[in-house]
Amino acid sequence: MAQGDRVILHCDANGFYASVECLDNPALGQAPMAVAGDPEGRHGVILAKNELAKGYGVKTAETVWQARRKCPQLVLVPPRHSRYREISRLVNKIYLQYTSQVEPFGIDESFLDVTGSLALFGLDGEALAHRIRLQVKEQIGITISVGVSFNKVFAKLGSDMKKPDAVTVISRENYRDKVWPLPVSALLFVGGATRQALERHGVNTIGDLAGVDREEAAGWLGKSGEMLWHYARGLDEEPVKEYVQAEPVKSVGNGMTFRRDLLTEEEIRGGVRALTDEVAFRLRRYGLKCRTVQVHIKDPALKTISRQTTLARPTRLQRELYRAAMELIHAHWRPGAPIRALTVTGAGVIPDQEVYEQLSLLDDGQEARRRQERLEEAVYQLRLKHGPGVIAMGLPPDQTLGIKPPSPQSGGATPAPGEEKKGPAPEGGGDGPGVDQEGNGSGPEGE
Ligand SMILES: [Mg+2]
Repeated sequence: MAQGDRVILHCDANGFYASVECLDNPALGQAPMAVAGDPEGRHGVILAKNELAKGYGVKTAETVWQARRKCPQLVLVPPRHSRYREISRLVNKIYLQYTSQVEPFGIDESFLDVTGSLALFGLDGEALAHRIRLQVKEQIGITISVGVSFNKVFAKLGSDMKKPDAVTVISRENYRDKVWPLPVSALLFVGGATRQALERHGVNTIGDLAGVDREEAAGWLGKSGEMLWHYARGLDEEPVKEYVQAEPVKSVGNGMTFRRDLLTEEEIRGGVRALTDEVAFRLRRYGLKCRTVQVHIKDPALKTISRQTTLARPTRLQRELYRAAMELIHAHWRPGAPIRALTVTGAGVIPDQEVYEQLSLLDDGQEARRRQERLEEAVYQLRLKHGPGVIAMGLPPDQTLGIKPPSPQSGGATPAPGEEKKGPAPEGGGDGPGVDQEGNGSGPEGE
């Protein structure tokens, strides 16, 4: 590394969920195995696999059905998220022996800024990376891949280049050779839509992107184009944050004080629709479902009532949150009494993948529910890509009440008491507008 450069490590646990399962049950390590969201159903998705399964071509994010076609003897186990969080904490504890700047990026990855630690340990970045890699293997029993570089973006690329159990250095001397030939989609935050947009302009590799004018990139993709251009040229200067214990989210709430009091049924519906829209958006973003819905209602004299109801099934569907909230209001609020402020909270949250939907032929609601799930997922994806205003569920927001559509930054509304401060995992870092999100935290893990 050049004088004055930072030394950043990106440490990425290999096949994390599967590694933890094999750690706790070594017999699993002898066979091709994978962790799958719903091992019994053919539509369950592979969340992680071990090296043996990888040898059969089993891939993360494909369906159980696709994986079984390639590897009929594949052993599947359901995820145990609380156990993964526990191991994740232990791994981060090791990282913290080397620097206080440890920034988890999803459950199985962390950035470390070790610039100030090298002299202390008498090692260069690469040697320190090997030391940490070995310590995690010895003390925890899982392997990690480490990228070493002078910025976060390249460190992350490095950890992907050689795995499992390996270290890759991307330096000022070699990044043109190592990074620039990679497809542009390898770059942080370049998802499908961004990749297609870049490819339309003849940008296929990271080097192609680095080779265009900054104004050109900005012209194609706005601010995020400019950011990606900086990334491609090795100009990312994002600091690694100090470690903060990621508190698990206990509830997801959204409240607002309206510009004028809500009086009519129609106005209340509009308010509740907007509030639950945002709650549903955030539940989805965190990969959570809630078991109860709470409503806090404040009248113009600031008198507040709080009521809650337990749902028949955990949900993240806006439609179901909305219905539950409206039922609470109808049951506990006198029609026509003015409402100054309203908060809707989804509480008793559990990770989405721990919810097993019981298939039942007798349940007519199943298919409608699945359709609604597909619809809301599509809306969610659109909003991530094109911003909050792209589509509104139900009626357009009422300007006179000051209601806004949900935003990826979760702005606008005041959090409810006990509301989440941070996601269960850092979510893709600086999610710029129009930039696709990485599948961190809630989705299937990377390798
Ligand atoms: Mg990983």
